[in-house]
Formats: sequence, C-alpha cells, structure tokens
Amino acid sequence: MNSMRIIVAGGAGYIGSHVCVELVKAGCKALVIDNFVNSSPKALERISEIAGGDVELLEADLADPADTQRIIDAVKAFRPDGAVHLAGLKAVGESVAEPVMYYSVNLPATFTLVRALEEANARLIVFSSSATVYGALNENPIDEDGATGPTNPYGRTKLFIEEILKDLALADKRWKVCNLRYFNPVGAHPSGRIGEDPNGIPNNLFPFIAQVAVGRLPKLKVFGDDYPTRDGTGVRDYIHVVDLAAGHVAAIDYLSRKATPGAVAFNLGTGSGVSVLEAIGAFKRASNRDIPYEIAPRRDGDIAEFFANPSRANAELGWKATKSLADMCADHWRWQSGNPNGYRD
Ligand code: UDP
Repeated sequence: MNSMRIIVAGGAGYIGSHVCVELVKAGCKALVIDNFVNSSPKALERISEIAGGDVELLEADLADPADTQRIIDAVKAFRPDGAVHLAGLKAVGESVAEPVMYYSVNLPATFTLVRALEEANARLIVFSSSATVYGALNENPIDEDGATGPTNPYGRTKLFIEEILKDLALADKRWKVCNLRYFNPVGAHPSGRIGEDPNGIPNNLFPFIAQVAVGRLPKLKVFGDDYPTRDGTGVRDYIHVVDLAAGHVAAIDYLSRKATPGAVAFNLGTGSGVSVLEAIGAFKRASNRDIPYEIAPRRDGDIAEFFANPSRANAELGWKATKSLADMCADHWRWQSGNPNGYRD
C-alpha cells in the first residue's frame, strides 16, 4: 500500500474526503479530481490538516468533454496505480425528476476516468456503488449474490456502472475492479473537521436529525411507524464513514495483491439494523439536544428493513466495521455543531 499513487475522482465530497484521509494515512499519494459541484475545496485543506499530508487537486469535470484531454494528461502525468471512483450525482429524488441528467453525468464521468486510467496503464478501480442496486428484491441480510433491481435512476446509474466495469474486466484481464456497495454512510471524521455538507434540505435521516439538533431545522418527520419492524419505523444498516473509507483502502490493497481478480462486488455495512427511533434516541444522547419529531406517512419507495451481510468483505478484504452507533452520532454531532453551516462560513 505504502507509496501507491491513487486518483480519487470526487475526492472532495463527503465520502471521498474521508477516503483521502485514510489513503494519506496509509502512505499513499492522492490526486483528487473534483468539479466542486456538490463539494468544497475547503475539504482538501482539512484533509491535509487531519492526515498530515497533502493531496493534489485537478479541478475538472469528468463528464464535460471540454475537460477530457486535460484530465487524461494530468492522470498520465501523475503515474497512478489506480483510482477510487466516487464522482457523480447522488440525490435519489432529483434523479427521478431529472433522469437524463443523471445518466449523462454519471456514465460519461466513468468513461473518461476509465479512458484516462487505460492511457496511464493503471487498470485498477474501486467504484463507489450503493446497496440501492439491490432494490427491494431480497431477504435480509442482503448478500452480494442477491438479485439486483434498483428502483430509481440514481440506483440504475450505479448498477450500470458496475456492469460496465464488469464487462471491462471480462474483456481485459489486466483490469482489476471492486464494486463497493455502501449501506447507509453516516458520521464524520472524529476530528470534526470534515463531514457531510448537503445542499439544501437534507433527504437522508442523519443529516436531517443533525440539522434539527443544531436548530437549523425545526422538526424531523419520521416516515411511517407502521412497518413490520421492532418499533414500527424503518430499519437500516448505518455505517460510520471512517469505517467505509477504510474499506476503500482495503479494496485497493486486495486488488493490488491479486493477479487477476476480475470484478468483485463487496457489501460495506455493519450487518445490523437500526430503527429511525433508535437513531433519534442515540443522537439525542450524543448531542444532549432535544430532537423534536412527528410521525408522518410512509415515504414513497421506502422499504421496512434493509441490512447487509458483510461477510464477504470481512473475509476477503480483511475489513470490518468497528464503530458503534454511539460513535456515529458523537462524530456526526461534533462535525455538525462545529460547522453548523458545513463548509460555508
Ligand atoms: N427517514 C425518516 N425521516 C427523514 C429521512 C429518513 O424517517 O427525514 C427514514 C426513512 O424512511 C428510512 C430511514 O430513515 O427508514 C433512512 O432513510 P435515508 O433516506 O437516510 O436512507 P435510505 O432510505 O436511502 O436507506
């Protein structure tokens, strides 16, 4: 691992910034490619501050043909060993309203990155996929051999990219691919210096709770309390973003050690579920703030319960989520309370 050179596409974002910290800590050199459409250059300063090493930056849009040659040149000049690919649009609701935008950003960004890696002779890629590729077709816990059937365009871009990378690895044995299927990433770096900074009103549970706790939003809506779960609210597999980031480093290490791994999918989750009411309770304890909430109707498209079987990643990557729900809440709160407006002043 030490001294590997890794491109981090989307490296200024929520997950990408945590991946950069773990890469620098592991002794790697990183080149971030980001267009800052949903991220801030401040994250990069803070990565250096936390990890004690710089990351290089190429400000460019992987999905914009006008930037393609500049990206290829910069990637070749960096002489990478591989890439972590987290560049793309990621809002489920927006993808339903603007499907063509999602397809025409997430797929071309991948093509450009793959082409640049080919030209740099660095055929190793760890892709930021999502457990959303499974849709609602499987019994819990979900394993990687489960059926896929994403229920929105965002999720379909994740599945299509996985399939494209699989085809690539089938066509050319030099390609090494990990498709990492994230469950529900939450929390922040324990330093409180980097974390999730959603644009506008958050859709996801943790950022919403955190903004209620800090007083930026008045009240949380709990979407349904009549699910067949232990307290009637939806159950998800929340994973600390630092554990998730460590999974990327483990995936790079795994791919670099294997001669011809092909394309392998891994669930990154804890393997246990937490209900909405349990999450509220834990956040309340961590923040020592009141979290007003009301029970609201179910949200369209939500399922009752969804959690991972992470045993393939545990066994093959030698990786395991180690942080508790209390850690996720404490770290999320440290970030939110120290940076009530995210990276904006
Ligand atoms: N949820 C909620 N209120 C919110 C946002 C989410 O009750 O304002 C619930 C949602 O119904 C689900 C869980 O929290 O049961 C996690 O939702 P999130 O959007 O964070 O993740 P996903 O649905 O993609 O797993």
